[in-house]
Amino acid sequence: MEKDDTRHLVEQLKSAGHLDRLFIGGEWVRPSGQARARVIDPSTEEAVAEIALGNAQDVASAVAEARRAFGAWSTSPAQNRAAILDRVHSLILERVELFAQAISLEMGAAIATARSAQVPNAAAHIRVARDSVSSYPFLTHRGDTAILREAIGVCALITPWNWPLYQITAKVGPALAAGCTVVLKPSELSPLSALLFAQVVHDAGVPAGVFNLVNGDGPEVGAAMAAHPDVDMISITGSTRAGVLVAQAAAPTVKRVAQELGGKSPNVILPDADFTRAVTAGVASGMRNVGQSCSAPTRMLVPRERLAEVERIAREAVSALVVGDPRSERTTHGPVANRAQFQRVQEMIAAGIDEGAQLVCGGPGRPQGLERGFYVRPTVFSGVDPQMRIAQEEIFGPVLCIIPYGSVDEAVEIANDTVYGLGAHVQGQDLAAARAVAARIRSGQVHINNPAWSPHAPFGGYKRSGNGREYGLEGLQEYLETKAILGFGQEQPA
Ligand code: NAD
Repeated sequence: MEKDDTRHLVEQLKSAGHLDRLFIGGEWVRPSGQARARVIDPSTEEAVAEIALGNAQDVASAVAEARRAFGAWSTSPAQNRAAILDRVHSLILERVELFAQAISLEMGAAIATARSAQVPNAAAHIRVARDSVSSYPFLTHRGDTAILREAIGVCALITPWNWPLYQITAKVGPALAAGCTVVLKPSELSPLSALLFAQVVHDAGVPAGVFNLVNGDGPEVGAAMAAHPDVDMISITGSTRAGVLVAQAAAPTVKRVAQELGGKSPNVILPDADFTRAVTAGVASGMRNVGQSCSAPTRMLVPRERLAEVERIAREAVSALVVGDPRSERTTHGPVANRAQFQRVQEMIAAGIDEGAQLVCGGPGRPQGLERGFYVRPTVFSGVDPQMRIAQEEIFGPVLCIIPYGSVDEAVEIANDTVYGLGAHVQGQDLAAARAVAARIRSGQVHINNPAWSPHAPFGGYKRSGNGREYGLEGLQEYLETKAILGFGQEQPA
């Protein structure tokens, strides 16, 4: 892939007028204010586009349009909604290359990762929502009580920059399937794929007002969405900091709040695991998407007496990574997504060294030969104490902590000893033992021996990793209210 391809993509968005507009009420409209934001290519640190940002007034217009559209959409036959989602799904797959380029440009994903994971996994959320709604029992009976599951209403959706399209479809797919209407605010740092998605929604024939897009920042647009009295539910994926602010702003209007927030997921390698496989796969999943995944297993827990062996395998696994230009087909790891993230990762690598963790590979600064761009050296620390900052705080970069344990009980204790509880991994040949450890880990997902990713498996957090579940059937139910009609089944009086 050439740089020219991404230039062409930006030109296309520009000439369509989408960079200067929001998508409200089925139309591309100019925002009411003058605020703009630059989109930075993290591989060059240069601005590649500028987008118009909305404000609280635009949020109000979008919410009004979503409210207007709610009656008809929420009562439309579920099969019709499934058919429209089917078109959304097909169009994403038809435009996979365009989306992959946009994502690579706006947040630095290696183009191969964007094509093979960022876009198809995003499409999978739409497919699952389509399938779930097709057969969902919206009406059930318990004695003479009818139990109805109804769309909750107008939903405000706030998404981050790390898996930009994927996080959008994980919310928009099930919300539309449930019969809700939505106002989406993607991350202001990764708006290009979101603009392409709005065009897909439009082209798929989603009725006007059902889907609205307001670009903007968190403090202005995100906060206005959270506080808006006519929004019934707000769902945010992002930092725990932003999730708390959203919940606080939402509290006075008692709207439902769904939060998918930070993580510091453990990867417990049991003594009987195949260490070469488990450690190699553990490095790969911890550093997948350059470590910018909320459920990345960034704490590898290993038997103390096997530490040297683990370090050797981890060093080898890291040496196979190709860090470089995200537009090169050979690259496995591009830069981290933005300057703030680069600084955060550098700060945390320095903190690990200061705290006395042992550097196995990587370290501060950029990889050799990459003087410009937010490139980070994939870094592995060993001998990490569970109480160190690098073992407790989400870093969101390619930084892996190897933590030794003495017994399996101690491993479980360390695994659970953070404020987070999003993902977890367990590796071991004795499946009964691995399942027993999985049962003791306090997190929303546990993976045993690196199974394939499943869009049907519910995803979400225990503790400060969030509230609510996304993906699969649970993801659809998140957007439903329960209504009991008592006496529904009584005999008609003669
Ligand atoms: P962030 O939480 O600030 O941004 C995520 C989304 O929330 C964006 O759309 C942002 O505009 C919005 N937002 C921010 N403040 C808001 C507010 N007050 N009200 C409403 N919406 C608001 O994420 P960030 O600052 O870009 O990243 C910082 C850290 O967040 C990362 O280092 C990482 O630890 C974490 N993060 C987690 C995820 C995840 O998938 N769970 C994704 C991105 C970032």
